[in-house]
Amino acid sequence: MKVYYNAPEQGYAPQTSFFQGRFTPCPEVPARTRSILAALGAHAEFELAAPPPLEAAHLAGVHDAGYIETLRALCGRLKPDEAFYPFNAQPLPLLLRSPYARVRMGYYALDTSTPLLPQSYDMALSAAAVAAAGAEAMLAGAPLAYCLLRPPGHHAGRRSYGGYCILNNAALAAQRLAGAGRVAILDVDYHHGNGTQDIFYESDAVLYVSLHCRPEEAYPYIAGAEEESGTGRGAGYNLNLPLPGGTDWAAYAPALERALERIARARPALLVLSAGFDTLADDPIGSFALRVPDFEPMGRMIAALGLPTLVVQEGGYHVPSLGPAVLALFTGLGLLPAGGARLHA
Ligand SMILES: [Zn+2]
Repeated sequence: MKVYYNAPEQGYAPQTSFFQGRFTPCPEVPARTRSILAALGAHAEFELAAPPPLEAAHLAGVHDAGYIETLRALCGRLKPDEAFYPFNAQPLPLLLRSPYARVRMGYYALDTSTPLLPQSYDMALSAAAVAAAGAEAMLAGAPLAYCLLRPPGHHAGRRSYGGYCILNNAALAAQRLAGAGRVAILDVDYHHGNGTQDIFYESDAVLYVSLHCRPEEAYPYIAGAEEESGTGRGAGYNLNLPLPGGTDWAAYAPALERALERIARARPALLVLSAGFDTLADDPIGSFALRVPDFEPMGRMIAALGLPTLVVQEGGYHVPSLGPAVLALFTGLGLLPAGGARLHA
């Protein structure tokens, strides 16, 4: 199986996040992908591949052109060691009249938690390139592929960034795949993928189904309620399954079953799996109680859909667990023999 990967991300290390009024260490670090790469390296089934570069023009249809241009301009003007945090994170149209990208950027900020560095634009584009390459592989007939990338994407909306996400990688892949038939996105990250929901909320071409911690308790706080079910042509094509903090596999599995039933009913041609691992009990920013071996039955249940599946990396911040959890997932998905991977961190 091909693993598309943007290797330059190893040089991309945001240091601090500005969250709820104070600076905290940013958990979205290069060690995350190093943990996964180390685990994959022990198994010949994973074949690393670099994606071809992606032009910004290919983001049209997923992201607003004004957002992309402002992001490019802002990153181009930051000092080499500067991290940008918006001082006015609110979608006021007045902000867009400013000649300064630093001011305009506030219009597109979902929150202040995501530092933008001089290389953020290039890095986000390289992650999107990974998703695009994964989509191309699926269109060429691959039954399974993995987009290993940083920064993650599911909080990035049509014209917004936040939650360590800048461009929506899974949405870009889904949009490309939608040419071949209906696509379902299953998002198993601990957080609700508000950005993916935003991008496809009015579409019946892409079904979005998410299991996540309920917005009363967890980021992004503003989306992820069960009532949010799509609008216009997209009515009924958005399913949120919010779960309370403390959810373990016994409580998670029935919700996953419900998610998979909805996906099966939509009869999609392809599945995009937004694979977050911050549902693990040890995750420093999550509050669920999944264990590494639980990702194997999760993978088995998803594989039972019988759909070509593109796995796109999202969150997961307990570094030592990431590699073993990815191996457990791909064991369940049928790539690795059961019992063949060392699943315990
Ligand atoms: Zn997450």
